[in-house]
Amino acid sequence: MNLPTPLPPELSLARFAANIWTTEATNARIDLAGFAPKAPLSERLAWAKSKGLEIALVLARFSSNMQHSTDAQVRDNLTWAAQHGFYVPPEFVCVDEGGSGRKVRREGLNKAKQILKEKLATTLIVFKVSRLFRSAYRGFQFFQEEVVDEGRRGVSISQGIDTADHKTWKQLMYMHGIMDEMLLTTIAEHVYSGIKDMFLKGYVTGALPVGYYGKELPDAPRTNQDKVRKAPAVNREVAKLIVQHYEWIRDGMSIKEGWRRWVAANGPRDPRSTLDHMHYRAYRRMLSNPRYRGLWAFGRKQTVWSNKSDYAKQVERPESDVKIVQCEELRIVSDELFFAVQKRLAYKKGWGGPKKGGPKTLADLVVRYFYCAACKERFYQAAGGGRAMHCKRGQICPCKLTIQRQRAVDAVCTALQQKLLADAQLLEDILVRTADVGDEARAELANRRNSLNAKIQSVENRINFLIEMAGESAVGDRDSMKAKVKAAQAEKAELESRLASVVRTLSGTAVPITAEVVREAISHLQQLLEDGASGKLGEDLVHRAAAVFGELVGGKVWGHYIPRPGRKRGYVRGEFTPDLLTPTQAAVGAGMSLEPRKADAILVWLRPVPQIDQHAETAHRLIDIEGLSFRDAEKVMKDRGFNFNSGKLWQFYARYYETIGQPMPKRPYNNGRPAKPRE
Ligand SMILES: [Zn+2]
Repeated sequence: MNLPTPLPPELSLARFAANIWTTEATNARIDLAGFAPKAPLSERLAWAKSKGLEIALVLARFSSNMQHSTDAQVRDNLTWAAQHGFYVPPEFVCVDEGGSGRKVRREGLNKAKQILKEKLATTLIVFKVSRLFRSAYRGFQFFQEEVVDEGRRGVSISQGIDTADHKTWKQLMYMHGIMDEMLLTTIAEHVYSGIKDMFLKGYVTGALPVGYYGKELPDAPRTNQDKVRKAPAVNREVAKLIVQHYEWIRDGMSIKEGWRRWVAANGPRDPRSTLDHMHYRAYRRMLSNPRYRGLWAFGRKQTVWSNKSDYAKQVERPESDVKIVQCEELRIVSDELFFAVQKRLAYKKGWGGPKKGGPKTLADLVVRYFYCAACKERFYQAAGGGRAMHCKRGQICPCKLTIQRQRAVDAVCTALQQKLLADAQLLEDILVRTADVGDEARAELANRRNSLNAKIQSVENRINFLIEMAGESAVGDRDSMKAKVKAAQAEKAELESRLASVVRTLSGTAVPITAEVVREAISHLQQLLEDGASGKLGEDLVHRAAAVFGELVGGKVWGHYIPRPGRKRGYVRGEFTPDLLTPTQAAVGAGMSLEPRKADAILVWLRPVPQIDQHAETAHRLIDIEGLSFRDAEKVMKDRGFNFNSGKLWQFYARYYETIGQPMPKRPYNNGRPAKPRE
């Protein structure tokens, strides 16, 4: 929309707003009889009330890196208002133009707060609440404190958030906060490395998603390969099909069924695909690709030639280098439709994000380090996501080795933690090393530092958001919120420690690695194992914990089967040769290439010896050799710290004879002494 230029911006916006509301009110069949657009505000408010209309205000923000114009936001807000029986006086349209660099003055925001405070309007309408502030958390805070606590109503029209819906608005807001983060990840997945300027000029910079084609630009300079440049454009035919599918999914169709229909309709597929139809995963990605709502991004990864390793690799760019451009010409799906579909996808997946079968725990991720000693084969997780893991040879394994994942991993973690704390030599072995960092590595480290900084900021925002949500949620949800906060805090701590190590290495050639630094790194590894075993780590971190676990156990944990007399299932003992040096060195950021140290194997029980076997021998000694009564034997055991009643002791005793394969001697119960029978 072109505004008449001679008018001051405030006035032109007011006129623009007034026109839109009047037009949309007419479309919505609001009775405009007696409405005088130029009457004083108080008269217009009185008129609206006499017609049963509610009074609303609109808050919009134009942010420089999201090129979604304020005009469009204001228009959408006013249209929604008219359709839902609200009158928005042009005076109540508050706009902030996000400036660059300098501290932004939020005149629009301040005006909106003032209107709410004066109770001049009942309802605040925004396009997208999380867009109003730099973080989703701030948007939530604003809705809570300035709107709901003031007894007013807030609506975020593109997200379907309405505080009048007391039961769901907070959950929805929370979900959108998470989704915004997911969206960044999704964007990253969808973006190919490319040349920034070409992209910003709208040139094709790689493969285009289904629904777009490269339109030739004969006037533009030719490419390095002397080809005509192309810019992305919407394929209208395919776009219709895409919208149809988004609508189906929004309305509750299963994703499998949607995909089946896409294939049946001969829907297009990625030309690079080797299949003759779209892959199911590609269909799912199509449903979450933000490019369809006009959000095009680029710059997450860049290809860098590494002299050291002599190959090109992808490194992460600092977050600030990601350019996100809103191109309405490339939009296929409306924001409402897009987010409605994301909501369905998110509910199907749970909060954990795009991942099958829920979040992985450390115990799930380290199965690959366990090996059957008899078969020399590795372990696999039991089918159906069970809690066990077994030898690859399964039923044909001579030991039919199956162990509980969690218990086995816990046992190894505990042993590693003890070892880390007890290994005094480790400190010295690392201190003899001095790291020397070359120039290429230096550049790479600087990149990593920037990316870590950005990640820490983002986790921090999430923590604030979660803490706020925890305070607001029902008692039942609070625990799970707290757990999420803890996981996020652990993640932040981990990132900070990585950052510290990177910074140290960067600044480091002159500064030797001190004992303090190494001690810190060791205690950090120890903590990582502990948090990993107890399931406290977030998604990113648990993978790192798993990798560290693998390094620390020296790559393999051998499972030895030990038969158990008189029973079908025996014990399983784990054996591994720890390598504490490699991960610790990496953690302090020191250079590698140290001779492997000699280390003794560590033995742990992967399937522990049951209590009854642990104590059978003792029971035999106390009763048969020392001739104690069961009750006296019980006392002796108690003195040694074992609290068993004499019934249990009897079982241990019986087990001893089972173990040695002899009948139990005919001995009167309780060794001939009278005793009150117990259970
Ligand atoms: Zn085996």
